[in-house]
This record gives sequence, structure tokens and C-alpha cells, in this order.
Amino acid sequence: MTEVTERKVLDALATVIDRERCQDVVTLGMVRGLRIQDGHVMFALEVDADRGAKLEPLRKEAEDTVHRLEGVITARAVLTAERPAAAGGPAAPRQPTGAPQRQAPMHGELLPDVKAIVAVASGKGGVGKSTTAVNLALALARQGRRTGLLDADVYGPSMRRLLGIAGNPGSSDGVRLDAMEKFGIKAMSMAFLVEEETPIVWRGPMVQSALEQMMRDVAWGSLDILVVDMPPGTGDTQLTMAQRVPLAGAVIVSTPQDIALIDARKGLNMFRKVDVPVLGIIENMSYFVCPHCQGRTDIFGHGGAEAEAARLGVDFLGGIPLDVAIRETSDGGTPIVAADPEGEHAKAYLAIAARVWDKVEEVVAGRARTAPRIVVQ
Ligand code: ADP
Repeated sequence: MTEVTERKVLDALATVIDRERCQDVVTLGMVRGLRIQDGHVMFALEVDADRGAKLEPLRKEAEDTVHRLEGVITARAVLTAERPAAAGGPAAPRQPTGAPQRQAPMHGELLPDVKAIVAVASGKGGVGKSTTAVNLALALARQGRRTGLLDADVYGPSMRRLLGIAGNPGSSDGVRLDAMEKFGIKAMSMAFLVEEETPIVWRGPMVQSALEQMMRDVAWGSLDILVVDMPPGTGDTQLTMAQRVPLAGAVIVSTPQDIALIDARKGLNMFRKVDVPVLGIIENMSYFVCPHCQGRTDIFGHGGAEAEAARLGVDFLGGIPLDVAIRETSDGGTPIVAADPEGEHAKAYLAIAARVWDKVEEVVAGRARTAPRIVVQ
């Protein structure tokens, strides 16, 4: 087979013209994170933050141009944007600031072979949301559900590390990317698609396009449940997922400290506002188990999260202890449910997974009973 080289790809991209700037995308320095593996080509096009929405045709043209090259099996391009740093001030945070684009819902179009999609969300970062999402997905798979895990955190994808996945996705049909597979689940993450060193700063419309690509252009196969690891907070990803995808519900991960604070509530209210059922709250780092004597300490008091969940009118799905084994296993690429499936921690995740699945079934059954909703925006 003809070898696909960086040179050939860049030569092809040098024929793709950014018409507003009257130059090709290579000369303009827009091509970033080019990755070529076994005929699969991936790259990012860096564009001015304000032009994101208009540049979908350019992205498509670049992708198609590379795809036409001999030896190329699949080509993927994503749009990214550098946010201009505030004048004189420190570099701006890696968050999109564009007004969220309200879109007509396209329920039913994306992921038609997935029975239920569940978002795992948190009000802020660092509460253990990704760790919870991956262990929850592994627990669901152990309970016999065909499970997928979508890393929707395009700002800071973590699934390569958490699942210890090396390499890039291939394509069996030459059209769509195969989801990666590990520990019995399927997974897709932006980390599998663009070079990790690429500084990616996303704006609203690009987040949407990247998420849609990871759903529409990936052969997930038929799944019982797709667990979606959301970025923290309430931004474009949350809106995109709530509006474009028929979410069965959202699970909020919170620590005992922040459950009583505003963060968890913000996340909760956002999903309520966009009509996504909140399936419940998982309390992470709920209590501490001493590695020496196995004694349990409720560092932040006991029952607070449960009471708070009741006050907020959502179910409490369970607590996960703060334990170095959970950190070491997930940071080491074999999350605790895979590393020690019979252990106490895995049991805690399995119990939560069973509750989540029951609730998902209720929602799916309820949906089947009711006529399709007409949403007036
Ligand atoms: P988030 O997705 O909310 O930003 P992560 O899942 O990346 O959070 O977790 C942040 C850090 O906390 C990671 O190093 C992770 O291993 C660790 N961590 C998460 N949950 C636990 C837990 N229950 N016990 C110990 N460490 C944890």
C-alpha cells in the first residue's frame, strides 16, 4: 500500500484555501497536531476564535482533500481556536466564551443504536468525575450491559490515561472510526484523535462539531448504555449534549464539601432547565478508609450528602470512599473496578451502577410510553 507521509498530507492541504484570508491552510500555519497511523490521518485546523462557526466547510474540504490521497483510509479534521490573551493580562483560561448556540434538537439522529445515554457531570473540576465515570462504565459492563464511554471533555480529555489505551482508532469499514476497546467497554476520546501536545482551545461551535464527530463518525455498534464523561461546569458541551442527544439522564458527581455549596447545585439546575432528568448524586471521596486498620472515618461528617440530595429533590446514588488505591489504579490505567473487581471499592461502584441502570430503564420505558415531544425553542 502507498505510504502516507506527513509531506504528502501537507502538500495536499496546501491546496486548501482559506478564502477569507486568500492563502492556503499550510502557509497560514493552521494545521496542528498532524498524526498519521496506518492510513488514518488526523489533524486540527487552528482558526480565529470568532470565525469558528463559519469554517465548517473549510474543515470538511481539508478532511476530504486528505481522504482522497492514495493510501488514506480515514481522515479526520477538527477545528480548534486560540483564544486571544487579554491585553496585558495573564493568559486567558481554556474555556470557551462564545455565547452558546441554541440548536434545534436532533434527537434520534445521533447514536441510533444506543439504548440509553447517561451524562456524568460535576459542578467543578477535581471532584473525581472522570474516575467515577470510568469505574461506573466498567461496573455496568461487569453487570452485562454493552457499555461505551465517551470522553466529552474536549478541553482536557483523560480517557487515554484512565483506561491505559495506546495507539489510535482504526476503521474497519473505511468510513467510520472504530471505537477503542479496553476492559470490555468501548471508548472514544479527543485524546485518541489529536496529538496530545497540541494546545487546543475550543470555542462553542467547535466543541459541538467535535462532539458530533465522536458520535456520528464512530462505529459504536449497538450499546445498552453510553456513559458520557462531561467537562466540569455548565458550558457548551453540556448544552450540546442536552440539546442534540437524547440523554436518558445525568448523574452528578460531588464531594461532601461541595455538595452543600453552590457548585453541585449549578450543575443540577442546568440539566433541569434543559429538561434532562437528573438520575441522582454520587458522593465521591465520601469517607476515608485507613489503609492500615481499615477503620472508616467520615471526614466531612456522615449523611450530609444524602440529606442535601433529599433537600434538592434528587436521589442519592451512593458514596465512594477516598482511598489511595482508587487514585493509583485510575491514574495507572487500570481503574479499580478492572483492577480489583471483587474488592470493596468495586462493590460500591457496582451498587451505584445497578441503581443507575434501574433508573435508566425507568426513563427509557417512560419515553416509550409517551408520544415524541415537540420542543418549541
Ligand atoms: P475530575 O474528572 O472531577 O476532574 P478526576 O477523576 O480526574 O477528577 O480525579 C482527580 C484526582 O482525584 C485524580 O488523581 C484521581 O485519581 C483522584 N480521585 C478521584 N476519586 C478518588 C477517590 N475516591 N479516592 C482517591 N482519589 C480519587
